[in-house]
Amino acid sequence: MSNGREPKEHETGPAEGPRPPLDGHRLADDPVSTAAIERLDVGGRQLVALSDGFLLMGETMVGTADEPTAAFDALRADYEEVRLPLGCFFWPGETNVLVDTGFGPLDAAEGGWLIGGNLLHQLRRIGVRPEDVDVVALSHLHADHSGGLGDPGTGEPIYPNATTYIGSHDWEYFVEGSTAAIPLPDYTRAALESLADRGKITLVDGDAEIAPGVRRLSAPGHTPGHSLYVIHDDDERVLLLGDSMYCPQQLTNLDWGAAFDVDPALARATRERLQRDLELHGGGALGCHFPGLIAGRAVTDPDRGTRRAP
Ligand SMILES: [Zn+2]
Repeated sequence: MSNGREPKEHETGPAEGPRPPLDGHRLADDPVSTAAIERLDVGGRQLVALSDGFLLMGETMVGTADEPTAAFDALRADYEEVRLPLGCFFWPGETNVLVDTGFGPLDAAEGGWLIGGNLLHQLRRIGVRPEDVDVVALSHLHADHSGGLGDPGTGEPIYPNATTYIGSHDWEYFVEGSTAAIPLPDYTRAALESLADRGKITLVDGDAEIAPGVRRLSAPGHTPGHSLYVIHDDDERVLLLGDSMYCPQQLTNLDWGAAFDVDPALARATRERLQRDLELHGGGALGCHFPGLIAGRAVTDPDRGTRRAP
């Protein structure tokens, strides 16, 4: 498995179609966040990592009680401005799978610290229409991952033919319950209800092969039903971490938690389990917000213990 390093799609110029909402924004062509398109070889197939937009990282978004700005400080050492992509992943094949849908065409705060709406444009650049998507696999139901599921104006589902997979405990927490710290927006709820009415929602608990080369694993903590997706072909694999880790530094700093973790202790236990799994079985790991959408690895070094590798 390798990160494709051929010329980036965005360097080939805009495709035809409606202008994306981020056109004209100073970060619209930023390869670290919005314009990131990475191709990862997995066995004989290729996974495409795309970004729906960007998230300007808050200083205390990921860290520890003693070091609340730990991740921000580490990332700022590498990037002048800490802007994270809104990662989505397309796995083309007989069954076309899209993992996460981004935030959708909205600006969440004045000044723009969370802006989406680029995903449909990015998919178009690689020749994919919304109706071509057979499976949408959501990591969780926070808006920067599920917001692109429905039209913000009408609540109509964006991917009309797709069966949508969601962790059952996320459905209980966000859709059926009323205590979610970050509630579902009305248009996302409308899209989910429309899909459910048409039998297009499948709730999963535990491990399940949901499509050829796509395995869902339970990875709770960030949200109660948070899902991890293992993309695999032949003997190779890459783990799509969702928000179980926000940055590759968390592969070796297990105490760094995210401010949005619903259950911080469970989220830490999940990170530890993922680290052990990566050391044991190998493969790349890629979170939705990893800068540049570049996968990291956790390897065991006899002298230095667990360390990150590119
Ligand atoms: Zn997120």
